[in-house]
Amino acid sequence: MSEALITCESLVRIYQTGSIEVQALQGLDLVVNRGEMVAVVGASGSGKSTLLSILAGIDAPTAGKAHVERWDLLAMSRADRVRYRRETVGFVRQQTASNLVPYLTSRQVIDLPMTAARKPARARRQRTSELLEALGVADCADRRPAEMSGGQQQRVAIAVALANRPHVLFADEPTGELDSATSAEVFGALRDVNQRYGVTVVVVTHDPGVSGQVERTVAIRDGRTSSEVLRRTATNEDGDTHVIAEEYAVMDRAGRVQIPREYRETLHLTNRVRLALEADHVRIHPDRTLP
Ligand code: ADP
Ligand code: MG
Repeated sequence: MSEALITCESLVRIYQTGSIEVQALQGLDLVVNRGEMVAVVGASGSGKSTLLSILAGIDAPTAGKAHVERWDLLAMSRADRVRYRRETVGFVRQQTASNLVPYLTSRQVIDLPMTAARKPARARRQRTSELLEALGVADCADRRPAEMSGGQQQRVAIAVALANRPHVLFADEPTGELDSATSAEVFGALRDVNQRYGVTVVVVTHDPGVSGQVERTVAIRDGRTSSEVLRRTATNEDGDTHVIAEEYAVMDRAGRVQIPREYRETLHLTNRVRLALEADHVRIHPDRTLP
């Protein structure tokens, strides 16, 4: 049975710079189940990084609800936040360079979060070797970032993020600086750790093409989740399996659904529509009182 690991309800984040207010998140709803791998897609400026920073415990929301496991992200003490960031979540950033340290080898940088968590030396060494192997970068163990490709650097960064066995892994455009082949390779590594360790993965990207690589893609527009694409495998009468991708609109707790712009324009749906309940669906009609 699926269990919600991340729950966001009407999440709001307002940035205030002088007299200018930016609503980066405008009532966002999102549920991610334990063990899932979800891609969050959206144009630049849609609020993706803001959402991840909040979920990773780096930034605090202005209003709404955000829970990850037993943690309430709107009511966490400073000490809780430190623990949460160290034990519950792992984070991979877009800039390959900012995930690593120029003068440390892969082995040394993977060791850092475990040293911070006071893990014994033997367990640290063992975990480091295991992760280097799992991410296919065992040959990079003694290399510094400058001696590795972008894809290798991001795979080491994933190893760093997983060092303390977090339950959730967040990745903010981890392939943003990589070419498409390398990008697919890093995505493959994320999928692999999701399967192997059962770690829940939330990966943010502006590339809508990733929908083909994950079971669930959540689209975010203007600081709100607008639609979801679910991918599932179906079998036809001849026994052939094929992948079906279906788009869903997101309904919030109050029952609000956003009708896509193309639909509104095609049927001239404006501020009033007529709803009709059928046995297994709901119909939406244009307002016939309009000229
Ligand atoms: P994305 O990651 O989808 O590109 P962001 O979450 O970075 O979007 O930004 C969402 C909106 O919030 C943008 O309009 C951005 O300019 C604004 N914003 C982000 N961070 C800050 C900040 N620290 N101060 C003020 N505005 C910000
Ligand atoms: Mg961003």
